[in-house]
Amino acid sequence: MRAGSIRLFQFLGITVYLHISWFLIVLFEMSARGHYYSSPIWQFLEIVALFGIVLIHEFGHALACRSVGGTADTIILWPFGGFAYVSPPWRPGAMLWSIVAGPLVNVILIPITVGIFWLTVAPHAPLTVNNFLHVLFDSPAAAGNIGRFLARIVLINMVLLVFNLLPVYPLDGGKILWSLLWFVTGEGLALRIASVVGLLGSGMLGIFAFRSGQIYLMAIAAFLIFEAVNAYRQSTRLMLMNKIPRHTQYHCPNCHMGPRVGTFWTCSNCGTHFDMFAQHGHCPNCRASFMNTDIQCPECRAVSPVSAWFAAATVDPIEPPKS
Ligand SMILES: [Zn+2]
Ligand SMILES: [Zn+2]
Ligand SMILES: [Zn+2]
Repeated sequence: MRAGSIRLFQFLGITVYLHISWFLIVLFEMSARGHYYSSPIWQFLEIVALFGIVLIHEFGHALACRSVGGTADTIILWPFGGFAYVSPPWRPGAMLWSIVAGPLVNVILIPITVGIFWLTVAPHAPLTVNNFLHVLFDSPAAAGNIGRFLARIVLINMVLLVFNLLPVYPLDGGKILWSLLWFVTGEGLALRIASVVGLLGSGMLGIFAFRSGQIYLMAIAAFLIFEAVNAYRQSTRLMLMNKIPRHTQYHCPNCHMGPRVGTFWTCSNCGTHFDMFAQHGHCPNCRASFMNTDIQCPECRAVSPVSAWFAAATVDPIEPPKS
């Protein structure tokens, strides 16, 4: 996705990119909207503010991910929102915090945006729910461009919060569901349940968007369905993997889980499929050594050299493997 993106800036070690299709949305929005403002500049500012809110939401994900020891260095803004490229430590608690932190930013923004709106539009009126709703929806015309603009910011932030919290994978709400279930059912079954709920939800969103003729919403629904189908496939792989027995002598140096038994590796030298651990880090055909090759643990996603898995072995690693 980084192809077709423009590098905007770097902040706290996180590089922010803007996808060029964003300009299509700007054109679309600028031409489709009615005369809410007296000048199109305000319309443009509103779109900028929308993406500003999305951007701090993504920074919430990225910084939370780092706070639990994960990595996050890229955010891409594109027409369906933002993407923070985060890889939290692969355990449900760290995952949950990295996801929750995004919507939490919008929750924090509620009193800030409402406060600025109220101080600008009705500084002397008491801020009650009734007063607030009345000014927000019924009398924006009296408030002028600034008042209308600030009212839109309040609404945009709330709509983004509610939409993101829908339990529809891959929206934040769906991912929260996934990581909560993960505590109870394990990663694979949790992803299966979350992706099925996500498919139903985004399917309904698609039907609603089609019936009401909202093209932008249809595109979002199509994207969500695509992601939910991918997650369903991934859950199938995870659930199949859970049935495969483990080597008990060797362990991931990070999470100490044993590697699965099976010929999952292909020799880069001769093309033979082999079991890295049964063959003690060597290709059984050409004897090429893979001791220094980095492999990723399917359990915790940590990458470490094969030799480190043997160093964590409970038997002498020089011992030849039992046949
Ligand atoms: Zn988010
Ligand atoms: Zn591991
Ligand atoms: Zn080989």
